[in-house]
Amino acid sequence: CKIDYQAPQDLLKDRILLVTGAGDGIGRTAAIEYARRGATVILLGRTTAKLEKVYDEIEAAGGPQPAIFPLNFEGATLKDYHDMAEALDKEFGRLDGILHNAGQLGRITPFEQYNPELWDQVMQVNINGPIWMTQALLPLLTKSADASVIFTSSSVGRKGRAYWGAYSVSKFATEGFAQVLAEEIDHLGTLRINTLNPGATRTAMRKSAYPGEDPMSLRTAEDIMPTYLWLMGPDSKGRNGEAFDAQPPRS
Ligand code: NDP
Repeated sequence: CKIDYQAPQDLLKDRILLVTGAGDGIGRTAAIEYARRGATVILLGRTTAKLEKVYDEIEAAGGPQPAIFPLNFEGATLKDYHDMAEALDKEFGRLDGILHNAGQLGRITPFEQYNPELWDQVMQVNINGPIWMTQALLPLLTKSADASVIFTSSSVGRKGRAYWGAYSVSKFATEGFAQVLAEEIDHLGTLRINTLNPGATRTAMRKSAYPGEDPMSLRTAEDIMPTYLWLMGPDSKGRNGEAFDAQPPRS
């Protein structure tokens, strides 16, 4: 946890970064913070109107012109990921990082009542889609001199919790996949793959998981950005295959 990390203003200068789920919640804040630190951010998400708002906010703040990439992990195909890689290659020629942040909660319910279609959908959006997108983008990541791929985990991706179903399983899979790929690419020395658990954060997803909780008791997405910046930027170079937390555990 690097909650006290102070990112230099030019931390991400000239970096080309992809943020998934960039239209809302933690992804939106990360995209804006990355752009504020000099990155050209590719805003990926399923609701174009939300991405356009983030785009406008970055432009208004004088950040590097971002790009918008509408994509819904639910229906996306391998071809979509390869078309995306081709478009990014043409436009930028490399990729310096991915924040895999898009995610769905599914339902909090006893497993015996878990709907199989919903289970598959959560696995598709939270892990299978991001995995095949990563495969398509690997050639672009290996063209970077220092690329960081961050997979978003959760505390239920490190210890199972009753009723959390596909969400918890998808986050365990995220941890496992990140370890496998991290070991495969370790010899490159220019690419690192880690997981990051944001911890309880005031967003729409947290609200739907804990409807009775007072949102004001939670850290905001802004509060947890130091670790998001540290792990994306050069100060974490050399760290590969690790599981990080963006905030200390709540007492
Ligand atoms: P939000 O629900 O606020 O935001 C999720 C984002 O993912 C939205 O922009 C959403 O798009 C996008 N998204 C959802 N489904 C898809 C899809 N099928 N295709 C493309 N994009 C999609 O969640 P948070 O910001 O809270 O969560 C961000 C990440 O952090 C998630 O991976 C979550 O699991 C993880 N996390 C969050 C915690 C918290 O306390 N908030 C705690 C632990 C982990 P749209 O806006 O269009 O719906």
